[in-house]
Amino acid sequence: MEWDVIVVGARCAGGPTAMLFARQGYRVLLLDRAASRTDTLSTLYIQQPGVSRLERWGLLDAVKATGCPPLGRTVYEIDDVRLAGCAGPNGTVHASYAPRRHLLDAILVEGAVAAGVEFRDHCGVSELLVEDGRVAGVRCTTPGGRSTVERARLVVGADGMRSTVAELAGARTTVEHPRLTCAYYTFWQGPKTDFELYEGERGWVSAVPTNDAVLISAYFPQDRFDEVRTDAFAAYREGVKVNAPALFEQMERAERTERLRGTGDQRNYFRETSGPGWALVGDAAHHKDSITARGIGDAFLQAELLVEAVADGLHDETRLTAALEAYGTELVAQLTPPYQGTLLVAQADARDKRLALLRAVGTSPDLTQRYFDTVAGVRPVSELYTPELLALLQG
Ligand SMILES: Cc1cc2nc3c(=O)[nH]c(=O)nc-3n(C[C@H](O)[C@H](O)[C@H](O)COP(=O)(O)OP(=O)(O)OC[C@H]3O[C@@H](n4cnc5c(N)ncnc54)[C@H](O)[C@@H]3O)c2cc1C
Repeated sequence: MEWDVIVVGARCAGGPTAMLFARQGYRVLLLDRAASRTDTLSTLYIQQPGVSRLERWGLLDAVKATGCPPLGRTVYEIDDVRLAGCAGPNGTVHASYAPRRHLLDAILVEGAVAAGVEFRDHCGVSELLVEDGRVAGVRCTTPGGRSTVERARLVVGADGMRSTVAELAGARTTVEHPRLTCAYYTFWQGPKTDFELYEGERGWVSAVPTNDAVLISAYFPQDRFDEVRTDAFAAYREGVKVNAPALFEQMERAERTERLRGTGDQRNYFRETSGPGWALVGDAAHHKDSITARGIGDAFLQAELLVEAVADGLHDETRLTAALEAYGTELVAQLTPPYQGTLLVAQADARDKRLALLRAVGTSPDLTQRYFDTVAGVRPVSELYTPELLALLQG
């Protein structure tokens, strides 16, 4: 049988893409080479626009039912500046959430399956089938180790930063910047925190309350990665101690519940998003440093943009080509401002500029609200940058 759409990768980008295509009435196959209900690297925080999408898709109640607490207050400290508040509301959504990924990603897949998607885990895609100059399906390895071919009108790569689909389709990198940070985190039972962010001289710390613990992360400039990784736990403790001393005291009294996880592979890029018979969503299409916690929500956004662009035009080649182009244009338009904002936040060398900006922001409740809103993506960055603030950044 021929599928309408095959989605490769079943997490933040792939689950919603498969679900939304199925809700349009398409026959969809969703594949992932990993086992379902597993964790992946993430500090878990979903900004309000992402939470709004979960609500609109009817999945937010399931996320709340996992027991992850609503996060209605954000604290950001840098030097003498302390901003406290909350982004939004975004529509009816006030709080953000940070569910464990083995729970969130399973809810997304269950949403897809409920919409009629056929889901297969332990099923890795190794080849794209190309016919008459367009992608026509995939070769994948089934749970028994057997290689099979599945055919489809559209193959969507939702297979992450190291996307097999992007590589096999020859998707070019269109924008790229050097890696700026490396990140380590683990989970602690005991601390009582809001969603908290601390920025020191050359390091960042965050506390993120999740289902059963508080995730505490330490970010370092990329130029320290080789040194940090030699004894990552010592560097992590030192990072929290230096940049967030009060949080460190709580951490010292708390129980660590999992091993330390981390990465230095924080790439910054946009890729070509489509070609004949294929498209990319999520990290496969675009990735930025995780320091601004936008990847999950941006993956949701891309899923929606792709499915809305294709709409009922999947089987009309002219309409499909135009839709895939429109999707790529919209993705770049919507995600370039937060991409540039993320590069600014992740550049240790730009700290003085950030500090000047945040000092000015901290003098005004209105600017503070705008700051939280733009960081979360509730309103465009342009609504924060008054001429005076822009001058501080450029100075
Ligand atoms: C340290 C760190 C912290 C982060 N913190 C946050 C945060 O707080 N908030 C936030 O919004 N974002 C955060 N992110 C980013 C966020 O996790 C990603 O943007 C998001 O997971 C992207 O989802 P995705 O579905 O595109 O890709 P992925 O989550 O990478 O999923 C891709 C899936 O594709 C599957 N796959 C890969 N290749 C194949 C193949 N050949 N065949 C079949 N399946 C395949 C994989 O098994 C995987 O399940 C963080 C990232 C990192 C690294």
